[in-house]
Amino acid sequence: MENRLKPMDAEQLREYGHKMVDFIADYYKTIENFPVLSQVEPGYLRNLLPDSAPNQPDSFQHVLDDIQAKILPGVTHWQSPNYFAYYPSNSSVAGFVGEMLSAGLNIVGFSWIASPAATELEMIVLDWLAKMLKLPEDFLSAGRGGGVIQGTASEAVLVVLLAARDKVLRRVGKDALEKLVVYASDQTHSSLQKACQMAGIHPENCRLLKATSSTNYALSPEFLSETISQDLTIGLIPFFLCATVGTTSSTAVDPLLSLGKIAKSNGMWFHVDAAYAGSACVCPEFRHYMDGVEVADSFNMNAHKWFLTNFDCSALWVKDRSALVQALSTNPEYLKNKASQANMVVDYKDWQVPLGRRFRSLKLWMVLRLYGLENLQCYIRNHIKLAKHFENLIAQDPRFEVVTPRIFSLVCFRLLPVRNNESHGNKLNHQLLDAVNSTGSAFISHTVLSGKYILRFAVGAPLTEEKHVNAAWKVLQDKATSLLAESL
Ligand SMILES: *Cc1c(COP(=O)(O)O)cnc(C)c1O
Repeated sequence: MENRLKPMDAEQLREYGHKMVDFIADYYKTIENFPVLSQVEPGYLRNLLPDSAPNQPDSFQHVLDDIQAKILPGVTHWQSPNYFAYYPSNSSVAGFVGEMLSAGLNIVGFSWIASPAATELEMIVLDWLAKMLKLPEDFLSAGRGGGVIQGTASEAVLVVLLAARDKVLRRVGKDALEKLVVYASDQTHSSLQKACQMAGIHPENCRLLKATSSTNYALSPEFLSETISQDLTIGLIPFFLCATVGTTSSTAVDPLLSLGKIAKSNGMWFHVDAAYAGSACVCPEFRHYMDGVEVADSFNMNAHKWFLTNFDCSALWVKDRSALVQALSTNPEYLKNKASQANMVVDYKDWQVPLGRRFRSLKLWMVLRLYGLENLQCYIRNHIKLAKHFENLIAQDPRFEVVTPRIFSLVCFRLLPVRNNESHGNKLNHQLLDAVNSTGSAFISHTVLSGKYILRFAVGAPLTEEKHVNAAWKVLQDKATSLLAESL
């Protein structure tokens, strides 16, 4: 049969591409018409789509119609100005066109030769971002360190854990795997635990030390020190510490310098996870939250959270890139080339789990060039101002309380339990969350701190303005009023 398919016809690309951009621009114009949290039931899509793929081509318009009618109802609108759940996942025009170019060139830059610009731009752009964050010079690519774009913070912590494991096992011998111990607070993101599972760390040797309200949920250096001493006396080998700037539950900030010194004096790898709050540290007034990063071995922030770079783009810096390369490199015949063999280039395949990698630095480069540092700082400050505004609204309503100090753009709060009945209070706040989210007019999420069910209001969507914060607060107040009336 004659092949009539022209899968990369430039004129068709132009036609469909323009139509798709129009479709997306219209989506953004009307985004507030959708319920923020998708209201569909599990399995909804199976009833709407055929059982098998078509034999003959469908029309582009027909597909767009299906997206409108069948897909969008099942979308939770992370870019809605009324999105306040989890943490933000920013989109921007610069990030979008960068992503578009990356999809357009569609290279696979596993080694330098596979697309020299992909590797070199990534090194340069991560040096730029490192300078914006005032990271110590050891993290820049000119020396023994450097930055790399990972897909997610989870991949970042996995690769540095593997590098640290390899390094310590080379020192103490491969048989010692069972004795290796990892430390972090119990507020640390679950990706650390997943990384330990993948790295073969004995499940009992992943020490998630309890952080309490007395330190605002930051890890206590004394507690860390004591635990390490105990572990040493029973012959275990402490080798990895993960601290967090801006925990996922409540934006707790671990005291990097004191913790890092303990790690260093015990010969451990020190990783700093600033996935969400790292973005704020481009503002001089927030930079002090990462003081102590000088003693870290690795530092990570997600440009795809609160830094206008479309998902995915997680920036990781290490001081000693050879630790990563020694743990993760392979050198198969089919990838051999002059530049790599002569050690003249960085081959990012040796800094990550997969071989293949996208040209993600393009979108970060576009964001930095098209917006510039000053605009990015204003962007962050505006969200923090809106979060403060929300905090003030709560303070004016005696039925509510702010639970942990607001540091960045997340407010942790709750409806106060009636007659100090905590378990009823937990139920009440859970009901309040569901009631608000089922309206579709705002989306918030929750956590549990010291047994209390807490509501999380994270400002950070690019389209959010004060009127959206006010509207969400009104819905919260109204729903609280009805719930309290019912529970009398
Ligand atoms: C969001 C977050 C993560 C996980 O991010 P992924 O990029 O989705 O893996 C890890 N740590 C912190 C502190 C986070 O806020």
